[in-house]
Amino acid sequence: MNTDDTIVAISTPRGRGGLGVVRLSGNKALLIAEQLLRRAPPKQPADTQDNGLDLRPWRVRSAALTDEEGGLMDRVLVSWFRKPRSYTGEDVVEISAHGSPVILEFLLGRCIAVGARLAEPGEFTLRAFLNGRMDLTQAEAVHDLIEAQTLYQAKVAAQQVEGAVSHRISPFKKQLVDLIALLEAGIDFAEDDVSVLSTAEISGRLAPIEEGLSQMAQSFRAGKIIRQGLVLAIVGRPNVGKSSLFNCLLQQDRAIVTATPGTTRDLVSETIELEGIPLRFVDTAGIRHAFEEAESIGVRKSYEAAVDSDLALLVLDGSQDMTAEDRDLLARLSGLGKLVVVVNKCDLSLRLGPENLQQELAQTGPTATASNCSASILFVSALKREGIEKLRQTILETAAPALAGHRETQLLTNIRQERLVRESQAALADAQESLRAGVPHEMVLLDLYNSLRPLDAITGETTVEDILTHIFSTFCIGK
Ligand code: GDP
Repeated sequence: MNTDDTIVAISTPRGRGGLGVVRLSGNKALLIAEQLLRRAPPKQPADTQDNGLDLRPWRVRSAALTDEEGGLMDRVLVSWFRKPRSYTGEDVVEISAHGSPVILEFLLGRCIAVGARLAEPGEFTLRAFLNGRMDLTQAEAVHDLIEAQTLYQAKVAAQQVEGAVSHRISPFKKQLVDLIALLEAGIDFAEDDVSVLSTAEISGRLAPIEEGLSQMAQSFRAGKIIRQGLVLAIVGRPNVGKSSLFNCLLQQDRAIVTATPGTTRDLVSETIELEGIPLRFVDTAGIRHAFEEAESIGVRKSYEAAVDSDLALLVLDGSQDMTAEDRDLLARLSGLGKLVVVVNKCDLSLRLGPENLQQELAQTGPTATASNCSASILFVSALKREGIEKLRQTILETAAPALAGHRETQLLTNIRQERLVRESQAALADAQESLRAGVPHEMVLLDLYNSLRPLDAITGETTVEDILTHIFSTFCIGK
């Protein structure tokens, strides 16, 4: 990828809209814009002398987009962001036209005809990174911000675009660099036979860094949930009210509700937002194919869907006694330790009360998870929409206990970053081990460098090109 080229892309989504933006970045951005645009409104024919655009940095200018013959195609607004104070650090020109796909394609084609190259996905942000306008954690967060499904996800990403991750890492890096410098100095003066720092002092300095990195790595459990959301499987035998419950939770009619068992054919999934977290419900009502397969296969498939999810909702029909199938599912699912038992049809006379259900749990589930399950038995009526709000809250608390007590600025949401933090942490543990074993300090230094390197890689100070390509290729074109 040549970064000397001037790149161009339509930066707004495909389709029709009020406005559409074409963005240019590179040395020729200004020149290209001036070739395509004329001062607006064009009072005189375009080929008269006074057709200069007179673009000024950080000012918006009105201009006319013309075809090769000088015929007016659209009236546009042009902004020039002069290097290096632009998104990419290069000259950037944004042309805001009407949001017509044909006009935008025409404009894009004209830009390319006079010397621009079509941008690769993420290339604007890649250039911003290469030109030092942002570090790698910020660039990755730009992607997350664009991809956010909930406002809360966007908020977390926005703080990372501002450098939240880098700010958290930088004190650890500084402490490591200081320590390395001291130890290096100690080696230089080795003939004096005095260590600059004692083994205990080095160990004491490493401990808070280790602790800080460990907290960061642990925050990924919450960060991952916020970034990716949760998957919930609704499991239960036919006709207990899974589809009805599913619809109740979604508050829209997506799954088929029927009084005949086994009519919902396919796995239906739908996403809702619960306190900023996307929750994808998978309704497994349809995975039992009544004619072709034995009941046990249906149960097995339900179980498999539950294994892949973050939380299973086992739906029971409270107006009936438990069946062998219910017991089978309960026994299997309680072993997973991420189960909420939902007793539905509470508007009818209940045959499944809290006491006999507890008894069932005690008999079927392993003792360790029985207590876990007993905390999450809920009585609802999908028909009357009773107990649904409590169910929503229980879902979040059970599936995502990691979320409690986290502030968005302290979260690691990116798996690449989490791995590097853990790598750094592991090298520090090696250093501590070496210190305990009485290894000479110059050898301990190697561990410290091993700990520093991944921290540098997080912000992109030492990132190799294939990792960059991997990160930026997931972006959309025009960002
Ligand atoms: P599924 O096969 O488990 O998905 O069950 P459905 O959602 O299709 O429901 C089966 C039948 O039970 C339908 O006739 C629903 O109207 C009924 N049903 C569902 N929830 C309730 C409830 O809370 N109370 C009552 N009385 N009937 C319900």
